[in-house]
Amino acid sequence: AALAAQAQSLAATFDNHADDSHTSHLTAVFAHRSVAAYAGVLGALFQGNGYVPLNRHFPPDRTRQMLQRSGCTQVLVDHLSSEQLPEIVAGLEPLVIIAPDPETDTRALSDACPGHTVLGAADLATPSAALASGTPLTSSDAVAYLLFTSGSTGQPKGVAVSQANVSAFLDWAQSRYEVDEHDRMSQMFDLTFDLSVFDMFLAWSNGAHLCCPTDRELIHPGKFVKQSELTIWFSVPSVAMFMSRLRTLKPQSYPTLRWALFCGEPLPLDLTAEFAAAAPNAVVENLYGPTELTIACTVHRYDDVTSHRDAVNGIVPIGEPFPTMDAAILDDELREVPVGSDGELALTGPQVTLGYWQDPEKTAAAFVEPPGLTGVYYRTGDRVRRDRVDGPLVHLGRLDHQIKVNGHRVELGEIEAVLREEGGVAAAVAIGWPVTDAGAGGIVGFVSGARTDPTELCEKAALRLPPYMVPRQIVEVDEFPLNSNGKIDRLALRAILDD
Ligand code: AMP
Repeated sequence: AALAAQAQSLAATFDNHADDSHTSHLTAVFAHRSVAAYAGVLGALFQGNGYVPLNRHFPPDRTRQMLQRSGCTQVLVDHLSSEQLPEIVAGLEPLVIIAPDPETDTRALSDACPGHTVLGAADLATPSAALASGTPLTSSDAVAYLLFTSGSTGQPKGVAVSQANVSAFLDWAQSRYEVDEHDRMSQMFDLTFDLSVFDMFLAWSNGAHLCCPTDRELIHPGKFVKQSELTIWFSVPSVAMFMSRLRTLKPQSYPTLRWALFCGEPLPLDLTAEFAAAAPNAVVENLYGPTELTIACTVHRYDDVTSHRDAVNGIVPIGEPFPTMDAAILDDELREVPVGSDGELALTGPQVTLGYWQDPEKTAAAFVEPPGLTGVYYRTGDRVRRDRVDGPLVHLGRLDHQIKVNGHRVELGEIEAVLREEGGVAAAVAIGWPVTDAGAGGIVGFVSGARTDPTELCEKAALRLPPYMVPRQIVEVDEFPLNSNGKIDRLALRAILDD
């Protein structure tokens, strides 16, 4: 109730300062792991707007681009993010900025953001009765959130997810996980990662506790599970790998957990068995899904027998589509392949999102109606197979140059575009390195004949890319090795690192 009151007050304040002539029904939330961040997400939704999460750990130039492209005229900022805000909003069209944390010096912020309106804790409005009795989520086609993901051509892509999409996902999730007021849920994801929506909305709609670790607590996940007495764990497999490396997955370590859920990248079988033993009272599940299909859309329940029988390459199956979703495995011509053959996974149903923000061309390429099938299917770019008619979907890899770096979605093409531009070279290659069971731990870049020295090139890339996309190392090669098709041979480049 306290959170709802804060959110409604933010919604009322935004409403009072809304520019009705403006068409973007989106509110930016530039806040990180704070009460203001969560009240801001809910506040935007109570106002009837979608939220656009922005992250102070991303380079300011990238954040400015997202803010500008979303067309938001209103921004919520928490205290610790407010320091970076002046740099981001400089030169932008006038914005209404709400800085609700009492410790933020709104006068100083206002001076640093000329041309924009800054409102502080003292300016917050009282919500009308209608607003106070409203609900944050409906099942309309209005945008619930706009998330920017890495784009292969060098520009982040905005994925617009509707309220109906989120409601469809949450209905499924609540029927499966039966969250109630005794539950204590993790929040391992930043708001810029859509998996955070699962934690927030299942907790809030069922009176459960959302346990949000600080950046410092994130470094000791095992301690966080114990101290917070979590009952529901949800993370990318990379966090479990990290826990295993820290030797904090000993048997019986986490008896309070009743669900241990993973999503976002391939889930290694051995790691899953280790986690299952560490959380003896938990049911362990592998969820799968891209942002474009609203958080997750297939699921596999881990067990000691069937998961081991059906795993391929030591990776847990991604299971079955949710009952409301239909999956098809397609060849290059978008025709379904027979059981036992590999193909591209495509799904249709109520979780298919609205597409890419203001980009009909990219939307049309990825959201398609395959011949012989009805409905709009999203082409995931994931290579999958079913080994038996009644067997689970197994994930075999990607059909493109998208990878996961510690669970974050990364288009290698976007990094390569930045390296080409900043290095003044015609060709650059980015590779996930070191390789992990689920993807990669970081990025290494390769260039040939760059004008900029490697250290400077890394520094320049850091001004344009989020930290997990910045190459840790740039290797200069005299000439790129080519494969038999005359293309740059990525495997040969990787072999250089292996040596
Ligand atoms: P994102 O949009 O950041 O959620 O990334 C979506 C991509 O992550 C998918 O297209 C897959 O390549 C990968 N992914 C998500 N969940 C899984 C999973 N359980 N197993 C394998 N890959 C996954």
